[in-house]
Amino acid sequence: MNVSPLNGVTPVGVALDELESALDKVIGLVEARGLTELDHDQFVTFARRIEQHRNRLSRVDHGIVSVADERDLGTRFSVRNTAGFLAVTARITKHQAHQRVQAACVLGRRQAMTGEDLPPLREILAEAQALGDVGAQQAEMINDTLACVERASSLDVTELAALETELVAHARNFGPRELKHCLQRVEAHHDPDGVLPDEDRVREQRFVHLVCRRDGAYALEGRLTRDVGAALAAVLTPLAKPRPTEAAGPDLRSAGQRMHDAVEDITGFLLRSGDLPRRGGLPSTVVVTIDHETLLSRSGLGHTSLGAPLPVREVLSLCQEAEIIPVVLDSAGAVLSAGRTSRLATPQLTQMLYARDGGCSFPGCDAPPEFCERHHVIAWIDGGETRIDNLTLLCRYHHHTFLDGGWRVEMRDGLPHWFAPTWCPDDGVPLLHHRIRHRRGPTRC
Ligand SMILES: [Zn+2]
Repeated sequence: MNVSPLNGVTPVGVALDELESALDKVIGLVEARGLTELDHDQFVTFARRIEQHRNRLSRVDHGIVSVADERDLGTRFSVRNTAGFLAVTARITKHQAHQRVQAACVLGRRQAMTGEDLPPLREILAEAQALGDVGAQQAEMINDTLACVERASSLDVTELAALETELVAHARNFGPRELKHCLQRVEAHHDPDGVLPDEDRVREQRFVHLVCRRDGAYALEGRLTRDVGAALAAVLTPLAKPRPTEAAGPDLRSAGQRMHDAVEDITGFLLRSGDLPRRGGLPSTVVVTIDHETLLSRSGLGHTSLGAPLPVREVLSLCQEAEIIPVVLDSAGAVLSAGRTSRLATPQLTQMLYARDGGCSFPGCDAPPEFCERHHVIAWIDGGETRIDNLTLLCRYHHHTFLDGGWRVEMRDGLPHWFAPTWCPDDGVPLLHHRIRHRRGPTRC
């Protein structure tokens, strides 16, 4: 498609030339670090005004759609319709093009059959957009809500205009995220039955994908039904709360990392509980195949039964918990021998640990025992045995982070004593979790 050059003598051409040279000037000044001369207030004003101009450009988009429509350019360029024409000329997605066409229908100026000029359908919203106060995304959201209220309620024209004014005022104060909550409340008020799609549709759309990527990490994506989502949120949210302790300071994990670790807690809990359905005659088990020498050298990779790579460090971390089933393979991969150890902490041992530690033994942590892992104070690879005097309970977070934080644990008098890293003020004094200390009774403190 050839686009003929814009005639510089038409008023639109002249205005566009002026816009381009003004924009060049602004870009030049910004790139020459002109913004650094502004004080904070001036800088904020600059950022806001640029955003307003970006918002105002939507008005130009409406005009483009309107003329493309009038001239039926979609058919002329064999791209089906105006949205197709926009997608090709502006190199945007079909979805974006449809959004622009929709926006132009409700926010652009209209013409009556008689040729007379009519104001936009959503006049108040269009005015706010002309001032640059409302972005394209916000405008789309508000229009959707107004359309929903129009369908579901019996508001008259004046009441609808009042609602439009109110929603535009919200858009001046809130970004799309907060605005969405506000609009949902408005929709729920006017259309109590219509806000939620019906249960069957939600159930139809349910899915969870757990995909192993090339680096061995997993991508988790899904859409849960309302009850499953609510149940999962109820389980994960308390586990994902920050775990600051006086000894180690604030919890530095992001919200997403804490949520991930909550999933880790749950899966660890389920694997330990032994209540999972059996798969192929085995209880739910993480099977890791690893070269013997790789294991001893503590660097390299093992592989899970699904082929996902797992660094030795993480294999060893799993081994703190898991049942070990050594399987010796020959160089071609054939099984030479298979055995089974009883290294796994027995249920009785676990009960003893629950009774003694009562939860994570890291100083100040309040994680309950059900969500703790068993930590071998002397690692099994270093000859540490699975006995009560070599085990302590640690929440997943502290289990994974205490070494990097410079902490050390030692069994003294059969209890897990912690040694703070050198940068801590109480350097050198072994710390016993206050919960464990209290369990020993006042006379033994
Ligand atoms: Zn902990």
